[in-house]
Amino acid sequence: MSFSDRDGFIWLDGEWVPWREAKVHVLTNTLHYGLGVFEGIRVYETESGESAAFRLEEHIARFFDSAKLVYLKVNCDEKTLFNACLDSVRQNQLKEAYIRPMTFLGSEGMGLHAKNLEAHTMVAAWGWGAYLGAEALAHGVRVKTSSYRRNHTDSLHAKAKVNGQYVNSMMALREAQVCGFDEALMLDHTGFVAEGSGENFFIVKNGEILTPPPHAILCGITRDTILQLAHDLNIPAREASFTRDDVYLADEAFFTGTAAEVTPVCEVDGHKIGEGKPGPVTLILQQAFFDVVKGRNAKYKHWLALV
Ligand code: PMP
Repeated sequence: MSFSDRDGFIWLDGEWVPWREAKVHVLTNTLHYGLGVFEGIRVYETESGESAAFRLEEHIARFFDSAKLVYLKVNCDEKTLFNACLDSVRQNQLKEAYIRPMTFLGSEGMGLHAKNLEAHTMVAAWGWGAYLGAEALAHGVRVKTSSYRRNHTDSLHAKAKVNGQYVNSMMALREAQVCGFDEALMLDHTGFVAEGSGENFFIVKNGEILTPPPHAILCGITRDTILQLAHDLNIPAREASFTRDDVYLADEAFFTGTAAEVTPVCEVDGHKIGEGKPGPVTLILQQAFFDVVKGRNAKYKHWLALV
């Protein structure tokens, strides 16, 4: 069954549209040129049986920041989008969900110069299991350093979750998959490690956690969560630039992201990372992350927006 052919409702410019009818015209501007912004948010069922969106406020704030960076005016306010995200879970009767809001430019005109293009905003929610597979969460993924560099910040703002930015990500991922790997690791234009195609990246060396500084990467909300949890657990963690060879020589490595959650990396370019299986620090942080998102850590209840 196609993804567009299912029951449920999608929020489009303030209306709940039946899932199969939530369509746009083929001349939709964003479809042609990629200028739009989006987010990905996860909802987890908590211990008490309630569902909660994780750090929804931060995702909505990043959505509006992304829009600002590409001179796009979102056609609703933050509160409306926040509520539409939570409502999309209720409307589709989901306990756990992935929520996808997007603002795109319509079909009111064509070309880069088109005037009077209207912004349109949609929100869809669906059940989505482990992004890289349950096997990946438990046993780790095999990664290839990409021949594609992360977009230079002079070319496109890495901090913006802009639709067109994901051609760069998809090229890296396609190359990795064609070569038999699960995921790509992208370097920045100077050769320092940047991030995955849709995840941030961490290594562990001598008990210390390192992650690239926020220059050429999307500043992930999961990345920030992991840095805070490492602090709570007294595991030294800092932002630092490092290279491909530092990764090969690391004791552990893992990806973080809303979709990918905390996914261990067991191999990069044919080099085993550590023992070639999820390491102890990775597993502690993965557990701590799931405790927070599932409402088992009272300190972080304020990160949960109840559905
Ligand atoms: N980097 C990229 C390129 C991404 O697409 C994502 C997913 N949003 C991330 C990092 C991780 O960000 P977050 O933890 O906020 O989902």
